[in-house]
Amino acid sequence: MKCVIFGGTGFIGRALSSYWLKEGHEVLVVSRTKTTDAPEAMGRTSGPTFWTWDELKKDPSPLEGSHVFVNLAGATLSQRWTAKAKRSILESRLTTTREVARLSKLYTPGPEVIVQASAVGIYGTSYSREFTENDQREQGRSDFLSEVTEQWEAAAEEGFAGRRLVKLRTGVVLGNSGGAFPLMRLPFLLGVGGKIGTGRQWVPWIHLHDQIRLIDFCVKHPSISGPVNAVSPYPVTNQQFGSSIGRVYHRPNWFPLPGPLLKLLLGEMSMLLLKGQKVLPAAAIQASFTFTYPGLEEALTALKSSKQF
Ligand code: NDP
Repeated sequence: MKCVIFGGTGFIGRALSSYWLKEGHEVLVVSRTKTTDAPEAMGRTSGPTFWTWDELKKDPSPLEGSHVFVNLAGATLSQRWTAKAKRSILESRLTTTREVARLSKLYTPGPEVIVQASAVGIYGTSYSREFTENDQREQGRSDFLSEVTEQWEAAAEEGFAGRRLVKLRTGVVLGNSGGAFPLMRLPFLLGVGGKIGTGRQWVPWIHLHDQIRLIDFCVKHPSISGPVNAVSPYPVTNQQFGSSIGRVYHRPNWFPLPGPLLKLLLGEMSMLLLKGQKVLPAAAIQASFTFTYPGLEEALTALKSSKQF
């Protein structure tokens, strides 16, 4: 299988690339800059081949024969949400999605499946509701993240019309090598961990290994298309999340971080920590996907003992 990962230099892309390479697939990574991590540069013979968006714009022929496109590209959310940053978070996602769609039409027959990154933020936030792929966001409850994800998915639907499109609505991906988890764990390792805000906000999460396996599963099951929630079947509240980190890492869990203080420190971006939604992986379960780490404590224990993820 020939797989192209747009935005494949990031936290999820690197893990996905290694997974597919180990399975013997051919992997192309598309990035904004020419990386020095190319196999030849590292003295290796195997690895992904790297292309920049600009190179493919000039000459898309390296994409010919690709079976799978995965689009993970987009500016990070982990920055202060100034007006400029918000524009970049949205625009980077729309521009790259439209470009991936354009590239998908430049060879025949084009990719058999596109896995498009999306996020659970599309459902908005709620303390009480449960969301599966069939649920709409509550009327009148829009926020920056739900608007970004809605426009992101709409751009993908328009660009990839007529093709099998999987919209992966991802929760907090837990890994040691990137994403939010190292920062969430840090206060606990420093001995000052505790609940954030009310602690009642939901944390839909997934272990990086399951995230990668789920992408692979969606690619290999032609009956899957449309939205797929990439979250474990057992979401927890922030308070439960903190208790689990405390237990697994044998650290105190006594120091609450008040919401107003976090808002002062992080501005609007604090909503990533102070708000959440209870999201369930109905589509994945319906398709008989099995999670290696369904429960949080087993996921955290695996992360604690592994250098791999
Ligand atoms: P990363 O930030 O680690 O990687 C995203 C990649 O996008 C980067 O490697 C970068 O590649 C590229 N990128 C960054 N800024 C821009 C830009 N302005 N324009 C174009 N490309 C850009 O993200 P993750 O791997 O963690 O996540 C992948 C996708 O999944 C993201 O879109 C994210 O929003 C989404 N997601 C992730 C979650 C998580 O917990 N990690 C949760 C929910 C959704 P390069 O610099 O090489 O061009």
